[in-house]
Amino acid sequence: MCGIIGYIGEEDAVPIIIEGLKKLEYRGYDSAGIAVYTENGFDVLKQKGRLSGLEEKLSGGFPQSHQGIGHTRWATHGEPSDINSHPHLGTDSKIAIVHNGIIENYKQLKEYLESKGVVFASQTDSEVIAQLAEYYYEGDIMDTVCKVSSRLEGSYALGIMCSDDPNTLIAVKKDNPLIIGISEHGNLIASDVPALLKHTNKVYYLDDNEIAVLKSDSINFFDFDMDEVDKTLETITWSMDSAEKGGYPHFMLKEIMEQPKVLRDTINSMMTDTENNRILEEIDIRKFDKIIITACGSAYNAGVVSKYVFEELCRFPLIEVELASEFRYKNSVINDKTLVILVSQSGETADTIAAMREAKSKGAVTLSIVNVIGSTIAKESDYTIFTAAGPEIAVATTKAFSAQLVLLYFLAVRFSKKLGRLDEALYEKLEQEIVSLPDKATEVLEHIDFIQKYASNSVAYKSVFFIGRNIDYAIALEGSLKLKEISYIHSEAYAGGELKHGTIALIDGENTLVVGIACCKRLFPKTLSNIEQVLSRGANVLFVSNIEQVTTDEKTSKITIPDIYDLFSPSLSVIALQLFSYYVAANRGCDIDKPRNLAKSVTVE
Ligand code: GLU
Repeated sequence: MCGIIGYIGEEDAVPIIIEGLKKLEYRGYDSAGIAVYTENGFDVLKQKGRLSGLEEKLSGGFPQSHQGIGHTRWATHGEPSDINSHPHLGTDSKIAIVHNGIIENYKQLKEYLESKGVVFASQTDSEVIAQLAEYYYEGDIMDTVCKVSSRLEGSYALGIMCSDDPNTLIAVKKDNPLIIGISEHGNLIASDVPALLKHTNKVYYLDDNEIAVLKSDSINFFDFDMDEVDKTLETITWSMDSAEKGGYPHFMLKEIMEQPKVLRDTINSMMTDTENNRILEEIDIRKFDKIIITACGSAYNAGVVSKYVFEELCRFPLIEVELASEFRYKNSVINDKTLVILVSQSGETADTIAAMREAKSKGAVTLSIVNVIGSTIAKESDYTIFTAAGPEIAVATTKAFSAQLVLLYFLAVRFSKKLGRLDEALYEKLEQEIVSLPDKATEVLEHIDFIQKYASNSVAYKSVFFIGRNIDYAIALEGSLKLKEISYIHSEAYAGGELKHGTIALIDGENTLVVGIACCKRLFPKTLSNIEQVLSRGANVLFVSNIEQVTTDEKTSKITIPDIYDLFSPSLSVIALQLFSYYVAANRGCDIDKPRNLAKSVTVE
């Protein structure tokens, strides 16, 4: 999830672009770059790392210009480096682009262009856009943009300049945001509203498959057939603070709401011809006799969920889930027949790094699931697949957790197929069930009003217990962690069957809420009797379930989630649980995005 910006107008583009990038840095900070048009062509400056690094470089001198594009990067293809930073230019420096998104067919396009003699400078998917544009360019930049767009698969928001067309800035959008701002001194493009607010609150929202052509004093819109499109100018009424959070009061809520897109992007990252898919195909699961999944916090919970999925689908003899902080000191019995799967959003979690090094020192093969390209775990593990969650700002993870879960499902399904445990029909069905998740996640989010209301009446509980069986127990762990970390209410997760072995003593009538997760159809009657046990001791109950027989009365309420293959239901129930925790914490006035005593990336022991 990068941030792009562009300006064309009367003022110097450079400070406008840098100011705008500052407002977009939340979208990625692997590197930053700028290209401006001058009479000698393009001047480009790019710098790995935070925007401040680019600013420092700029202070050494950079030409003024009335037209330019800028980028702040969250690397998806190619490590964070100067050369992989945007803007990218074609070999003849005729066309410059900034890109937010993923070009899924970049490999084929790159091979095609290389076969025609084009030499690439970077490892990014984005460079193919600039190179393809120069390859097609015959003097008409609009014609070129249409041709290029028709060849690209994946998602893109683009800012494009052509050195033959000094007074033109082009924007194109498919599946990533792009806003066009119209100000008194010129026109702008940006990935998000905060980057424009200093100059204007009058914007056009570009729709998918639309092109905007900006001159310093005009803006026109076209579809890919070059037919002109009429668009409505909108007025932004948000304050700067709320604009940075996409209009949401907290990053956490914004990130919860982004989950359908994150799920879709992560699912796409596992389809044919993607890097993730290629890496997974390289791993011959039949060589291993043991799988250990190790991680911390929510990533550990994703591991617990996946253990149920791996066991059911792979029928693998030995699958363990270990807390990385325990695993690192445990002297586990592992060797070159052990596959150790590491899960970490940041790729910098200290205990998980140590677990990875411990596993490697004993000869195990390591496969990591991380969100940050170029992170320590991504670099050092034998194999890495990336979640497509984009930067996560709120300390309590939501979208990165969901992306991890989906990749773990894919691992289980693909390994199961390699192990010969799935026939083609079941394999197809399972993959389709995963593909259905983004739409179903949207359905869960539609319960937001009910959840908000229910949560506002749940702020005074002394304890909240999350119970479930099997896969529902696994996701109960995450529901409970979410609630305690942001609302500071005491909470625990229990396997339904364990209640009677101790925890039931803590049920203190009306002071206790029990969240019953009931999506595992096979065990539903058992979960229901556990719920009866807590109801008869006076607790209130909130069900999160896709089972019709769950009824409600004055003591029990229900969030209904869509039906899905049982083992994948945690991806849907967790969204209801995240929203519940969020609204409980919001009603308690907690500092949701920065809960007390916690840090986003735990880089210490
Ligand atoms: N795929 C591009 C890169 O890695 C853009 C990244 C993004 O927008 O997330 O440079």
